[in-house]
Amino acid sequence: MTDAIDIAANLISIRERIAAAARRAGRSPDEVTLLAVSKTHSVGLIAQALAAGQRDFGENLIEEAWVKFGDPHSAAALEMPLSSLQTPQAGPPEAVARPRLHLIGPIQSRKAALAVACRPALIHAVDRLKIARRLDRFAAEAGLTLEVLLEVNVAGEASKFGFSAEGVDREAEAILALTHLRVRGLMTIPPYEPDPEAARPHFAALRRLRDQLAQRFPQADWRALSMGMSHDFETAIEEGATIVRVGTAIFGRRDS
Ligand SMILES: *Cc1c(COP(=O)(O)O)cnc(C)c1O
Repeated sequence: MTDAIDIAANLISIRERIAAAARRAGRSPDEVTLLAVSKTHSVGLIAQALAAGQRDFGENLIEEAWVKFGDPHSAAALEMPLSSLQTPQAGPPEAVARPRLHLIGPIQSRKAALAVACRPALIHAVDRLKIARRLDRFAAEAGLTLEVLLEVNVAGEASKFGFSAEGVDREAEAILALTHLRVRGLMTIPPYEPDPEAARPHFAALRRLRDQLAQRFPQADWRALSMGMSHDFETAIEEGATIVRVGTAIFGRRDS
């Protein structure tokens, strides 16, 4: 048997750490959204997190996201009467809590249609103009407007997905002209270093880039900064993160 994971307790402790990090930086804890990264984990564990009041979930593979959140059967399985939940939100007894799906992984061209069919609340990793155009086209066909972040490879790692800082500046105009995408900000995955302090300059660089883009392209809303994972989300919040993507610290270690 594996050790039992107390998802509700983990969520409480992470929300406390988020609030403390926000206060250290003179920010309101309400500015930070906790995204529970549920990749590889079962719908049963997601339902436990939902019952504990967690609403935003992140998946990095499109098929897995579809099976767990997009497909109407699984979506129905993840709808719970609010009256049955341990949440403070009051509502009519028949009201339901629905999870909000975030797609956080790179999207291959041939997966763009399925990504749109998942009806994600936010796509974090638009990393090239070509995929932005494809998502825009499928969103138009589906009569949707997709909320997206542009992924930036701030450290300039050759092996990583994402725009370079110059690349995002160059392509922003074309992406902002796409009528079925709504840009909300930037996302980054810094090189992995066990010490969270090592990521701080990368988080700060993403924030500065965002500030420059907001000046140059004031027609868009650049407020969101998706940065920080289980081991460095507090540092990210100190540097301005508005969305932290936390998997292991909520659900435990992934086997795969
Ligand atoms: C898996 C993943 C995370 C979560 O990582 P943890 O270290 O488990 O918190 C965050 N962001 C992205 C893009 C991921 O793929």
